[in-house]
Amino acid sequence: MRIRTLAEAKQPEMAAWRHQIHQNPELGFQEQKTTAFVKKVLKQADISMRPLGTPTGVLGILRGEQGPGPVVVLRADLDALPMQEENDVPYASHTANVMHACGHDGHTAILLGTAHILASLKSQLRGEVRFLFQPAEETLHGARQMIEAGVLDDPPADYIAGLHGSPLAEIGQMAIRRGPVMASADMAVITFSAAGGHGAYPHRTRDPILAAGHFITAVQSIVSRQVNAVDSVVVSICSLESGSAFNIIPRQAVLKGTVRTLNKSVRQGIPNMLEEKAAGIAQAFGCDWQLEYTQGVPAVQNDASVVDQLVEAGQIVLGPENVVFPPDPLMGSEDFAFYMEKVPKSAFFQLGFVRPGQPAPNLHNSHFNFDDGALVPGAAVLSQFAADMLTR
Ligand SMILES: [Zn+2]
Ligand SMILES: [Zn+2]
Repeated sequence: MRIRTLAEAKQPEMAAWRHQIHQNPELGFQEQKTTAFVKKVLKQADISMRPLGTPTGVLGILRGEQGPGPVVVLRADLDALPMQEENDVPYASHTANVMHACGHDGHTAILLGTAHILASLKSQLRGEVRFLFQPAEETLHGARQMIEAGVLDDPPADYIAGLHGSPLAEIGQMAIRRGPVMASADMAVITFSAAGGHGAYPHRTRDPILAAGHFITAVQSIVSRQVNAVDSVVVSICSLESGSAFNIIPRQAVLKGTVRTLNKSVRQGIPNMLEEKAAGIAQAFGCDWQLEYTQGVPAVQNDASVVDQLVEAGQIVLGPENVVFPPDPLMGSEDFAFYMEKVPKSAFFQLGFVRPGQPAPNLHNSHFNFDDGALVPGAAVLSQFAADMLTR
């Protein structure tokens, strides 16, 4: 009960910090003001910081006074989105076309609160807690930069946990599951090309738009015919660019799509399947083809033992009825997955922000605003988790 009380005492400060961050949103890798603010608030709790050599991002370090023990990393994200805020609140974004529409202002305030709570308990803790505030989650590039800056080294991290505000649960709840939680996200660019020609005389040239059309249809058979039905895959062609006039057969058609999977071996097989389709269709229609396939983030896979620890922490500070277990993973992605590749003892959970009787807020919407009611639950779960790991 004690950590819950400490978190409740921090509520007004966490809300004030969140509003300050919300009002001054910054895009990925440009979070200079937010970085400075985070450092200032960590200093207030006497938390030391490791220089990272990066323009943005913060690693706060708290050493327990009970001697050596495990290293627990807790992670938040700092960046906002390139969109115009439409909320009518006193702390609405001061910056045109930039806003915190994904709740990273809330995640940052929660981790700052957690740092203050754990600092007040350091005489009881062993080992080390690292408070990792990473840049650029939205572009899925920030985690890699932080890993290269050594946030998981010296000594190596033993555990890492993170959270995201979510419409999967109500305010005061957390949602967590073992195994796959979120999908890998890769990018494919497929280009069909030919000589181009007059729209009235298609027989004198080859038509990349026709090839592209067949490809768009054929690619859906990857999911329905080439991957085991019990494995989850999404292949979405989300962009088609081609042509400039009603009577010119263009020289190329460029398709862009996203590929999502929950399973490593399924993920590895997809580029070949795309290649087979592109090559076969290009040959059938006399076009040239090219596939550019870029691996984005891996899937978020929760370690069962760390899930159990987080569940236990959640049950203590939120009550057993407020830890819920969603039956299905999400096909969205998180660059938290990069940390998980390095630190297998890791887990990611969703922090509820749905108000009963009200529609679930939409992330990445111009009216989204992180609910201050989720600050205490978030900080309480992270604090309890870290305290449990470092007092046993
Ligand atoms: Zn987002
Ligand atoms: Zn987000």
